[in-house]
Amino acid sequence: MTSVAFIGLGHMGGPMAANLAKAGHDVRGFDLSAPSLELARQNGIATFPSLAETVSGAGTVITMLPAGKHVLSVWQELVETVPTGTRLIDCSTIDIDSAGKAHALAAAKGCPALDAPVSGGTGGATAGTLTFMVGGAAEVFADAEPLFKAMGSRIIHCGAATAGQAAKICNNMILGISMIAVGEAFVLGEKLGLTHQALYDVASVSSGQCWSLTTYCPVPGPVPASPANRGYEPGFAAALMLKDLKLSQAAAEDTGAMTPLGAKAARLYQLFADEGFAEKDFSGIINMLRDKSAPGA
Ligand code: NAD
Repeated sequence: MTSVAFIGLGHMGGPMAANLAKAGHDVRGFDLSAPSLELARQNGIATFPSLAETVSGAGTVITMLPAGKHVLSVWQELVETVPTGTRLIDCSTIDIDSAGKAHALAAAKGCPALDAPVSGGTGGATAGTLTFMVGGAAEVFADAEPLFKAMGSRIIHCGAATAGQAAKICNNMILGISMIAVGEAFVLGEKLGLTHQALYDVASVSSGQCWSLTTYCPVPGPVPASPANRGYEPGFAAALMLKDLKLSQAAAEDTGAMTPLGAKAARLYQLFADEGFAEKDFSGIINMLRDKSAPGA
């Protein structure tokens, strides 16, 4: 049994920590929010009033926090608190620059570290079926793999430090762009008198096939489990898609990569969020495309 400290017990971290506890690990939890701590205790996680008490005696510390600034502030405190050799893993989705700085903090303290963002959403976190995209040294990855397996079903070592974050933001840039592409196709199809089902039946077995169409179809009907069938309740909120598109745009700017469709997708999701739909599922962007189309024709 390994003692694991889990910092950040929110929508994702709460169920992830619960799955570690279910798998028999001794899990110690910390969060700034009292309701998250209460829920964690109900799931067999011991909670403590301070970060220092939480990490005391833990061989591994996992963080699952909103953004880079939270991760850097917590990791700074961690390297001032934990003994050399403590394994540090960040599962948050954060910018590449902050991920690099977190690895540097750990290296200076002599702590093995991994960036390990996830996909699969709150459903995957609860079911223990997350995909982990991991960056860091191969031997650190190999040692930590059993922990990931308690929380996920696909565990992919993507390369050296920050490679996990890089994979996450590149994947989600594809997703943001492809959801808009599928939405545009359905809106044009409507204008041309094509039924949703007919377009789906053709594109799902033709070269337009993609996850945004066949798993997460943005119109109700063809894929009954998609958020379009339940009023676009998330799922994956537009605010989170916008966050990830901004992260990929920051990385594109830093590296000089040409990502014109990623940039346009970020602007469209910004508009969608500004119009009041930040908490709706990101596939709902089709409604904005339809609403902004010219009437009649
Ligand atoms: P959340 O806001 O529900 O949880 C974050 C938790 O961190 C909160 O409970 C907050 O109180 C806590 N926190 C903030 N600062 C802290 C500190 N200094 N010390 C201790 N606790 C602190 O967010 P979430 O939905 O669980 O997302 C967490 C991360 O996972 C984000 O980076 C997000 O982008 C990523 N992610 C989310 C999803 C999703 O569907 N929600 C999917 C994939 C990845």
